[in-house]
Amino acid sequence: MKKSVITMAVAATVGLGTVFGGAPVKTAAESISSLKGEQNKIQEKRSTIESELNQANDKISNLQDQQSDVKNEMQRLDLAISDTTVKIKDKTAKVEETKAQIVKLQEEIRVIKERIEKRNVLLKDRARNYQETGGVVNYLDVLMGASSFSDFIDRANAVATIMQADQDILKQHEADKKELVDKQVKVETDLASIEKMLADLETMNQKLNSQKAEKDRLLATLVDQEQEEHDHVMDIQEQESVLASQEIAIQKAIKLEQERQAAAAAAAKASKNTSSSKSSSSGSGSGSSVGATPQVSSSSFTRPTVGPVTSGYGYRTFDSSFHNGIDFGKVTNSDAIVAAADGIVFRSYLSSSYGECIMITSMINGQIYTTVYAHMVSGSRLVHEGDTVKKGQPIGTKGATGEAAGIHLHFELHKGEWNSGKTNKINPAGIIPGV
Ligand SMILES: [Zn+2]
Repeated sequence: MKKSVITMAVAATVGLGTVFGGAPVKTAAESISSLKGEQNKIQEKRSTIESELNQANDKISNLQDQQSDVKNEMQRLDLAISDTTVKIKDKTAKVEETKAQIVKLQEEIRVIKERIEKRNVLLKDRARNYQETGGVVNYLDVLMGASSFSDFIDRANAVATIMQADQDILKQHEADKKELVDKQVKVETDLASIEKMLADLETMNQKLNSQKAEKDRLLATLVDQEQEEHDHVMDIQEQESVLASQEIAIQKAIKLEQERQAAAAAAAKASKNTSSSKSSSSGSGSGSSVGATPQVSSSSFTRPTVGPVTSGYGYRTFDSSFHNGIDFGKVTNSDAIVAAADGIVFRSYLSSSYGECIMITSMINGQIYTTVYAHMVSGSRLVHEGDTVKKGQPIGTKGATGEAAGIHLHFELHKGEWNSGKTNKINPAGIIPGV
């Protein structure tokens, strides 16, 4: 309140010669040409945006190509993985089978060894028996006891046969044992080679799986990048439509300015010095269930809403970002938002970041100003694109739509046209009364 009085006082002292910035009043022709300059700037921005849009779309189709390449690669890896998995299963079975075979061979070898052992013992016993006692069948006695030469031959043959038979059996046992041992050695060699193959397959499988995981990550990155690019396109398209409607609004502003100047000229000619159109402003009221409405200042700008300034303009340490406007906190849950100056609504829409949002082009002393009102309550926007608004006219209700953590008005002031780079943004403090 105090501040707005000061602003008024300053304005009164300097007269119409300056508006806050101290810029001199522009002549009619200057005003129009500066507006036309704004228009040209917007047209340049729009063609830049168009090429940016083409670039983004190229990027998207490139990212999509890369994704399908990666997907093909992943399919190939899947095939290789299932192939090695089958082979691993096969080799594992083979290993089990071979191990069982080895166990069986070892058992057979053990049985034969036992037999050899027994027979050896038997033969040793027999030999000891002969030496110690002459035994039941002393070979020599058998031979010496022959009754005739033919009997001797018979007996000698019998002894030889018995001895030979013992030797043959032993030899056979030894041969069997050797065969089994050879077989075991061969099977063990086979097992070693199968186990080596199995280990190779498992290594291969691991490698394939990690390659696939890598491709998975790559794909996820590409999908993210594509999403970002889509967001970027949406962003560009939003900027494009903001610029397009702003251009129309500025044309309208030029027309209004021309009409105002023509009327002023006519009035001067008639030498009637009626200042007539001093903004009356609707003030409070009008809004249906509005909780709190700000008082309307008599200067060029008025405070767009009640509530404390919860975040000022400029660099913010808490999120290391530049705040392009001013945040006004809430007084009630349905604080009114009013137009900060006379102007033309050029955007009244839902933005993903700004939420329910209104943008107004105002012309103050031949200078275009743009005001932005973001995060309004859903369905609370009271004005439409192309509408002419008066300073202090309610345009919506303070909310938290779009990227907003709580109920507040995010308000931006731009000296000139709004652009995506927000290069015309200025600090509203000291310009907007009571801020
Ligand atoms: Zn903000």
